[in-house]
Amino acid sequence: DLTNPELESDAELAYEGALRPKTLKEFVGQTKVRGQLELLLKAASMQNRTPDHILLAGPPGLGKTTLAMIVAQESAQPLRMSSGPAIQHAGDLAAVLSSLIPGEVLFIDEIHRMARSAEEMLYLAMEDYRIDIMVGKGAGATSVPLELSPFTLVGATTRSGLLPNPLRDRFGFTAHLEFYDTSELEQVLRRAAALLGLEIEREALAEIATRSRGTPRIANRLLRRVRDYALVHGTGPTLAAVRAALELYDVDALGLDRLDREVMTTILTRFSGGPVGLNTLAVSVGEEAETIEAVVEPFLVRIGLITRTPRGRVATRTAWDHFGIERSQDGSL
Ligand code: ADP
Repeated sequence: DLTNPELESDAELAYEGALRPKTLKEFVGQTKVRGQLELLLKAASMQNRTPDHILLAGPPGLGKTTLAMIVAQESAQPLRMSSGPAIQHAGDLAAVLSSLIPGEVLFIDEIHRMARSAEEMLYLAMEDYRIDIMVGKGAGATSVPLELSPFTLVGATTRSGLLPNPLRDRFGFTAHLEFYDTSELEQVLRRAAALLGLEIEREALAEIATRSRGTPRIANRLLRRVRDYALVHGTGPTLAAVRAALELYDVDALGLDRLDREVMTTILTRFSGGPVGLNTLAVSVGEEAETIEAVVEPFLVRIGLITRTPRGRVATRTAWDHFGIERSQDGSL
């Protein structure tokens, strides 16, 4: 799925790696967050201590992993990468934490998916650079404290609301990443095109930017498909090539992907435009409610296709128009 903001293949990982900004200066957009991070890193360096723990929240593909790498790079520390799903037991976390070197940056992606038992261990580790390890079983079990090296935790989550309060409270700073506007995505694309040695007109870049779902990952991915298209058809990456390539891959004028469209047509046709509750909607399209809420909805809300009301999700006038579905007077179809 071309516009699915989640990552797919190894080839894609390599492509993304090559395009990743390495410094805060190179990082496009998110001006507010950049300024906040810059201050936090600078203060830590002036006081010669590890920077505060940082939580990065926002939909996939907006730059959370990139920022974690930048934090390590800018504080001249090594980076250890892990993820919530890889930490299924407290022991998994203990192994990572106890092997950190002083000052190391620990990145935990999808931190909301970590095991409960590990979360509790993490509270203490974040606060006191210490964990308690249980030795033995049953009545003879004792807990042995273990000192850790000071480290900076960078957690990433698509849903900061899913994190238990005690964990959220232990981050010194939470950055909420926003979708990028078209001019920011053009900058992302210009930078990527330069790195790829691709000469491309401004109109062509602008067209890709408007169809990238506010997401740098998707912008870069579309650019790659356009490059392929231009290569195979021997046309150069012109505006016409962009349009043809996007049509070939079913990216519509708003840059909606398959799941976005399925959610929208479900609301419009099966629920007469809503209101429909999140769980009902999730079951109807066969997706997890969490995915709908964290990945699909934020963008649909941002571009004004749905609104969230206390009674559920409601399609807007714009949505009826974009999908070309006629709404009958009594709300039925
Ligand atoms: P996330 O971790 O939030 O899913 P990533 O950090 O992996 O997102 O970013 C996805 C891709 O988008 C990366 O390859 C990176 O090159 C690009 N990207 C993300 N944010 C920016 C940005 N602000 N400027 C330039 N490129 C970006």
